[in-house]
Amino acid sequence: MMKNPEKKALIRKLVKKEEKAAHEMASRIWELAEPPLKERESSKTIARYLAGNGFRVTWPFKMMPTAFMAERGSGKPVIGLLGEYDALPDCGEKASTYGHGCGHNLLGVASAVGAVAAGNFIEKKKIPGKVVYWGCPAEETLVGKAYMARDGGFRGMDACLCWHPSSVNSIRSSGGSALDSVMFEFRGKTSHAAASPESGRSALDAAIIMDVSVNYLREHVPEDVRIHSVICDGGKAPNVVPEYSRIWYYVRSKNRDQVDNVSRRILLCAKGAAAATETEVKVTRLTAIYNRLRNQAMAQVVLDNFQLFGPPAAGPADRERARALGKKGNFADKINTDLDGRQGRASTDDDTVSWLAPLGGCSVACVCNGTVGHNREYAMQVKLPFAYRGMMRASEILAGSAIDLLSDRKILDKAVGEFVAATKGFRFDPLIPKKQRPCP
Ligand SMILES: [Zn+2]
Ligand SMILES: [Zn+2]
Repeated sequence: MMKNPEKKALIRKLVKKEEKAAHEMASRIWELAEPPLKERESSKTIARYLAGNGFRVTWPFKMMPTAFMAERGSGKPVIGLLGEYDALPDCGEKASTYGHGCGHNLLGVASAVGAVAAGNFIEKKKIPGKVVYWGCPAEETLVGKAYMARDGGFRGMDACLCWHPSSVNSIRSSGGSALDSVMFEFRGKTSHAAASPESGRSALDAAIIMDVSVNYLREHVPEDVRIHSVICDGGKAPNVVPEYSRIWYYVRSKNRDQVDNVSRRILLCAKGAAAATETEVKVTRLTAIYNRLRNQAMAQVVLDNFQLFGPPAAGPADRERARALGKKGNFADKINTDLDGRQGRASTDDDTVSWLAPLGGCSVACVCNGTVGHNREYAMQVKLPFAYRGMMRASEILAGSAIDLLSDRKILDKAVGEFVAATKGFRFDPLIPKKQRPCP
């Protein structure tokens, strides 16, 4: 095992070599700003880069047109890295366009550079093992990794790494909430809403009654449950009794059991509404996510590497650029070393992967303090020099962590041991029907 200063110097050199390619990819993906499941060029940009660096690329991966897998090396151990590249609506420079309001232009690239650096390292040092990059589309709709996992993705890894751009430097060990995304479609019967209302059966009424029932249900669920809905279709004209309606729910909670239970009760609300309105209801679980299975050993590897490389540093020019965008211009300059952070109320599909392999990750500062996520101001910052510095720092941390796991049996065994103990008796349920096509 190498000493830290030697390891740090070598990884820095290996990552630095990729800097030009990384900047080009990040800015191209930023310009493309492709919506979830339409990230054709963005995914190809990263896949091409990996192929050019000795990775065997499988593109697309199974039923996901913009997912891919890239492998380098052979044998054991197998270390994975997760990359994302989808953009968000209404976050583009111009109104009503897609933009990188979550910084995924940096996310997918940093993981790819980390994978290349780790691949070059083990080749140089003749260390056995494999590096696998997972090109994961549609994170924002919580679809990508859920469907990839259903289709057999993320198997066979000894450990896996991820990261996310942020305004803070921290370890992501507690993850987000488990989630169900469920569409309820009601079918009724049209008729003249004034001349023959008695002949009509309103699908809109059903959706509204269902939502009222669900709002009463809120009193009787655990505190951490989050339920939110939108009516996607509610009829076309007031004088035609709506024959079709669609109401879409997210249910979130701290674990799968609680989500399953609340979802079951929401289904009863739907059936009750259908009975009351003499309509029919069709139920489709569009996607479903697990909560994070924590792995302290993985969190520690990533923290050790974060501390080895340090947080990205902001200078006067970065502060000036942030101020020009209307921000105060302060940047995080420390690493939050708390490994027991609170579980988030939002969800991420990374957490599903944590049940298939020991997962570790971090947040690296790429935007200034007080920047609102999923917003244009975030998108405008993730193409600035500071964001690119954060991205390259993430590559170093990921490469360093991957190398530790590949080359130090003790570190890997600890992570695997913890994972095996925590998943004893657990069988992965993909939660989504086998042949169901992903929709954004
Ligand atoms: Zn994101
Ligand atoms: Zn996001």
